[in-house]
Amino acid sequence: MIKAQRGTKDIIGLDTLTWQKIQQNAQDIFQNANYKEIRTPIFEATELFKRGVGDSTDIVNKEMYTFCVGGKDKNESSITLRPENTAGVVRAYIEHNISRQSPPQKFWYFGPMFRYERPQAGRQRQFHQIGIELFGIENSSADAEAILMAQEFLKSLGLDDLEVELNTLGCPKCRENYRNSIKEVLKPYLKDLCEDCKIRYEKNPLRMLDCKDENCQKIFEQDEIKKVILNDFICDECSQHFDEVQKYLKALNIKYTRNKMLVRGLDYYNRTVFEIKSSSLGSQSAVCGGGRYDGLVEMLGGTATPAVGWAMGVERLFELIKKVENKKLEYYVVSKYPEEAIKLCQKIRQKGISCDFDMQNRKFAKQLEKAAKIANYAIILGEDEIEKGFYTIKNLSDGTQEQKNEI
Ligand code: ATP
Ligand code: MG
Repeated sequence: MIKAQRGTKDIIGLDTLTWQKIQQNAQDIFQNANYKEIRTPIFEATELFKRGVGDSTDIVNKEMYTFCVGGKDKNESSITLRPENTAGVVRAYIEHNISRQSPPQKFWYFGPMFRYERPQAGRQRQFHQIGIELFGIENSSADAEAILMAQEFLKSLGLDDLEVELNTLGCPKCRENYRNSIKEVLKPYLKDLCEDCKIRYEKNPLRMLDCKDENCQKIFEQDEIKKVILNDFICDECSQHFDEVQKYLKALNIKYTRNKMLVRGLDYYNRTVFEIKSSSLGSQSAVCGGGRYDGLVEMLGGTATPAVGWAMGVERLFELIKKVENKKLEYYVVSKYPEEAIKLCQKIRQKGISCDFDMQNRKFAKQLEKAAKIANYAIILGEDEIEKGFYTIKNLSDGTQEQKNEI
């Protein structure tokens, strides 16, 4: 027997109702705030992610589903299942000249992402993300709005007690000093760091702070190193921008904590970064991650455009929220005349009212039994009813019956 692939899941039965609710709430909340949905392809040129996510990230180095199809020049046809959606949205933004429209341009998306990871609780190989991307605004109001959207969406699902962690990475200019200080203080420990951090040390030292290796984290916890990490390195402009973000959040009554160790997994972030976490999720506690990425559009070949966005893991969200319960059908037609039954169903369904009938033309009692399980009312359509043109409606919760000429 062939089974589903490791790290993938079928979404079936009642679970689909909760998934529908998540998607519906996203649509309602984002459209209400002037975000347009965007649906980009599930695979893109490998190069897009190498450049757009960054080749010092775990995603690009270890987690991509990359393959070659057709063509003689394999590099040219190397494609990758999207591990995240910002790169694809930015590609579309550039390709369709969206920057010509007046800013801001605001997008939301929902869809599957693919990462070759070790499957465990909260970590799959095919998983889903909901996200937003907001282009064209450098002002901190955009950072605040992005965080607000995440919060409002979570709130709509009954989640209003999650922890928002906030940090700023500064701009490439001020980050340079920070990188150098971190490299300097960690130099004596280089040999003790994990293999990944040895590479990060050269390529993208800040990413070391995001390392999940316990030993590395212990090294970073030492006083002399912590002092450098926690030192305020950001320039005046970035500092002012970050102050304003915080002012907005206070005005919006959004609670957050500053986490100076928060650097996020992707290479392209600058200034504001944030994560939203839930302690009830165990070790995979991040539900949402995002930040500002002012350099990405230009880096991928567009005109320089400031941008901010986030992505939320839908499977982790699903774990946290109250599940939607099954709703009964309004009517179930109970009849020994299947042609009449299907015709009546057609009529009722056309009015937008839920209805079903017995396709196996089973015994009357069996049909009634089924009706009681899945519907609020049974419509009994016997010989008498058909001949005289009325319906007998049985209330399946209290057993009462009445006759009606119309449904
Ligand atoms: P983590 O540190 O947990 O690996 P990440 O930094 O790789 O997270 P992002 O790329 O920021 O995650 O993705 C945003 C969100 O998508 C995460 O906060 C999480 O909720 C979800 N997510 C990421 N990877 C997976 C996965 N393999 N399975 C399920 N959800 C995931
Ligand atoms: Mg990850």
